[in-house]
Amino acid sequence: MKLSDLTFTTPYLDLDPIFYHETPPSPLKNPRLVSCNPDAARLLGLSPDTLEAAELVSLLNGRFLPDGARYYAMCYAGHQFGHYVPRLGDGRAINLGKTKGWNLQLKGSGQTLYSRQGDGRAVLRSSIREYLISEAMAGLGIPTSRALAIITSDEPVARERWEKGAIVLRMAPSWIRFGSFEYFFHSNRHAELEKLADFLLNESFPELAHGEEPYVAMFGEIVRRTAELIAQWQSVGFNHGVMNTDNMSSAGITIDYGPFAFMDTFESGYVCNHTDTYGRYSYDSQPGIGLWNLQRLAHALSPLIPQAKLEESLQHYGTWFTAKLMKLLRAKLGLEEPREDDPELFRSLFRILESGRVDMTPFFRILSRFDGERETLLALTLTPDELNVWLDAYEARLADNSGTTAQRHREMLRTNPKYVLKNHILQEAIEKAEEEDFTLVESLLQLARDPYGEHPGFERFARPTPHSLTNLKLSCSS
Ligand code: AMP
Ligand code: MG
Repeated sequence: MKLSDLTFTTPYLDLDPIFYHETPPSPLKNPRLVSCNPDAARLLGLSPDTLEAAELVSLLNGRFLPDGARYYAMCYAGHQFGHYVPRLGDGRAINLGKTKGWNLQLKGSGQTLYSRQGDGRAVLRSSIREYLISEAMAGLGIPTSRALAIITSDEPVARERWEKGAIVLRMAPSWIRFGSFEYFFHSNRHAELEKLADFLLNESFPELAHGEEPYVAMFGEIVRRTAELIAQWQSVGFNHGVMNTDNMSSAGITIDYGPFAFMDTFESGYVCNHTDTYGRYSYDSQPGIGLWNLQRLAHALSPLIPQAKLEESLQHYGTWFTAKLMKLLRAKLGLEEPREDDPELFRSLFRILESGRVDMTPFFRILSRFDGERETLLALTLTPDELNVWLDAYEARLADNSGTTAQRHREMLRTNPKYVLKNHILQEAIEKAEEEDFTLVESLLQLARDPYGEHPGFERFARPTPHSLTNLKLSCSS
């Protein structure tokens, strides 16, 4: 199927006009294609080889509206850094509607009713980051929005410096946020709140829609998905950076990538966002913030769900989170069956990774081939004596496994990625792309799609991050 054969529906526009604002995109000057993602194309039923650059550019630049699509921005609110903001909304994203179960959105396509003081634009730097990282998360098996393509332009956009305007076509099974519910609750529009709950049930939880207490079941499921999502972030050292409730997906996927980072050397209190002065969204705060955000959602849903039921669901959060994290960490270490003292084995490892300033991605990758030889692992840490003691405990623990060493290696190599797109790697691709060389964006897309593969020629991106480039802080401006 070709791009021009896509047909859309716009179920969101069946809601009252208070939920959205229909608004056309403002095309960029001299747009050109940076990259197109064949995996996302296939998800839409498109054959990647039929896609033409000119058609894609027209679609992204708002010059070609597919059959059935309409341009609209969605309204929402949210708690930003702990403070309630009564009206946010898609300030620089314009939706097209839904096709093949995916809601498509043009990010950076100009001002909307919800832009406040913003220019409605996104710069090439942040668009490349979002484009690549959403595919990298998908490659790691972490629920996320996806991205079909990206265009750059000659449109000057003012940030800390002048940058090029860009647009990403991103797609998600749902763009409803915790903040979408907060908007209707805090403005006392409880009839609309219920309509939104019904919409979300239909969109993301159809299997629960005809049960006994569909709203209760849906909230319970959001709690579970959120807890498990954050456990997945923790297991790969991912710091989202801006976990405001408007950036929390009601479908339990990762959305709204801004100053995110995959950590370099392991630092439990790592904060990637340099505007986050108090470290509200630090790596080790993420699980607690996930719960805090769910409490805000629970409050917003209180007209629809009895308090006791909301609290009961929230109480399961910790259990879901811990169970998932323990499972992931056992897999990272190649342990077959759970044991009571596993949490202590994991805690002590992360303590040592931190004190030894170890880059966790290469560490777990090298550990995936552990056969008793310790030198390569010990070379990664500033505190080899501590790691030696831990490896004694690990070797003893491995004796509980019944499979062979080769089986453990195979499993661990499928669990511990060789490549995560750390900020210094993305930065290299961005600098080249700003000079109109998009080859590294393309190569990183390949690494993102298959982070467990070997990818000869790209080994330097699998090594510990050079010291001068570790754990950079990023600005929120994008
Ligand atoms: P974020 O922290 O990027 O998720 O954005 C928070 C809110 O600000 C959302 O409502 C965005 O749509 C809006 N926003 C961010 N940047 C811009 C911009 N350049 N122009 C208009 N709205 C923006
Ligand atoms: Mg956002």
